[in-house]
Amino acid sequence: MKVFWIFAHPESRSVNASLRDAGVRTLHELGHECQVSDLYAMGWTPVVRANDYRHDPSERLYVAAASKQAYVTGALSEDIQAEQEKLEWADALIVQFPLWWYGMPAILKGWFDRVFVKGFAYGVIDSETGKTRRYGEGKLTGKRAMVVLTAGAPAPTLGPRGINGELNALLFPLQHGTLWYAGMSVLPPFLVPGADRVSEEKYASAVNALRERLVALPDAAPIAFRYQNGGDYDDDLVLREDHARGRTGLAVHSPDPAPVQPSET
Ligand SMILES: Cc1cc2nc3c(=O)[nH]c(=O)nc-3n(C[C@H](O)[C@H](O)[C@H](O)COP(=O)(O)OP(=O)(O)OC[C@H]3O[C@@H](n4cnc5c(N)ncnc54)[C@H](O)[C@@H]3O)c2cc1C
Repeated sequence: MKVFWIFAHPESRSVNASLRDAGVRTLHELGHECQVSDLYAMGWTPVVRANDYRHDPSERLYVAAASKQAYVTGALSEDIQAEQEKLEWADALIVQFPLWWYGMPAILKGWFDRVFVKGFAYGVIDSETGKTRRYGEGKLTGKRAMVVLTAGAPAPTLGPRGINGELNALLFPLQHGTLWYAGMSVLPPFLVPGADRVSEEKYASAVNALRERLVALPDAAPIAFRYQNGGDYDDDLVLREDHARGRTGLAVHSPDPAPVQPSET
């Protein structure tokens, strides 16, 4: 497999960087190819600007339209094109970060803002049906994705009744709203909880658990998010009454009645 590993942590001696190095070593041992984008080390620019699209600054900027125009004409800035090429090359994407304020570090959010442009990751129209291809369908369909994250919070507090919110609910914007939206199959996340205090034993166990998840990367069952165009939603894209009857909230977008449990060390 070809694996593209996106990494967002500012410190090369962090537990995150150690886990990334261990993960990349494992992938090579397993015979996979791997490319890494270490966003801080690359000095990645996380903010969208008109010159990403070679847009005339005197003209009003419509971000989605300008990004699509630049994408189809090959005018996107070189750093964005380089990341898109890595993604096109890959069979699987690993997105690794420390949980910061219930989400990704800003540099990583800005990677998605700038790389996932219209025509590439969204706004892809099916020429036969005229429907927008998203939520399970899109240009990135066929690729796998897995979130690898550390959190200061202990595991129970990220469980179904934990004060920090259930992990898959916290990751809904990334896993469902971005990766699945763009058509990728999303594997259950790999979490290292309690990551501010990591003993040698705990680190060794995290490395082993990550290794198991990387061994399973080609075959593991993805989260069973519902397809937009699979019949579960009505014409307004509201879940039909006969699915997840009586339930509301983010978890209804996967047919599994119980929240998907993360890997934990
Ligand atoms: C701005 C901000 C917002 C945050 N928001 C949240 C939040 O919303 N929810 C939440 O749960 N947490 C939150 N946190 C906590 C954050 O998720 C953790 O600090 C982070 O996950 C720890 O990972 P790290 O790589 O930065 O750890 P590091 O600080 O690099 O390391 C943690 C510990 O691991 C030890 N260690 C053991 N083995 C190794 C090894 N092989 N290599 C390196 N270090 C090792 C280190 O000595 C250290 O004690 C937040 C933190 C910040 C800074």
